[in-house]
Amino acid sequence: MLNIVIFGAPGSGKGTQSARIVEKYGLNHISTGDVLRAEIKNGTELGKTAKGYIDQGQLIPDALMIDILASVFDSFKDSKGVIFDGFPRTIAQAEALKVMLAERGQEVSVMLDLEVPEDELMTRLIKRGLESGRADDNDETIKKRLLVYHSQTAPLIDWYKADGKYCHIHGLGTMEGIFADIAGAIDNVIG
Ligand code: ATP
Ligand code: MG
Repeated sequence: MLNIVIFGAPGSGKGTQSARIVEKYGLNHISTGDVLRAEIKNGTELGKTAKGYIDQGQLIPDALMIDILASVFDSFKDSKGVIFDGFPRTIAQAEALKVMLAERGQEVSVMLDLEVPEDELMTRLIKRGLESGRADDNDETIKKRLLVYHSQTAPLIDWYKADGKYCHIHGLGTMEGIFADIAGAIDNVIG
């Protein structure tokens, strides 16, 4: 199986590029943000809990996210591979992912770090908030999410470097150009 972690700050383009990866390589896609937004829309208990954190720009507790992730992963049958979008977001989640995959005879193939400058992230997220009405894409919450990214999520860059899985992707430019770099990186891993 090809197990790809797509990584980056809020607004870095993880969702957009994941859709292209899915199309080209036929992988299953797990977007933890999409899973949580669906739960909120359906008014489930999990959705109610998640909304409290998301509206504050905070992360959902690790234990809860890890359970959700394992259950979505196990729902895929005869998968060619999975793209993890929005997970892991903390060191504890990365460690849990490693254990979960090892228990299933799997491992992360590569971690793609989509790097985008902070002013561009702000511009993209404010635009997305206006267009999609996503509740957490407002000025105040975006700033909190970027702080959370720097304090809790960015340390994963060194973690994946130490694990030998890290691959930097320059996240500025056209969507096609960025995807070409991503596909090159994936083709390298497939060999
Ligand atoms: P992008 O724009 O690159 O797709 P994003 O940060 O805007 O990324 P999502 O990945 O959709 O958005 O996540 C939205 C929110 O859902 C996060 O701010 C967080 O509150 C919650 N969330 C998503 N994934 C996790 C996770 N792995 N752990 C904890 N909370 C999460
Ligand atoms: Mg997303």
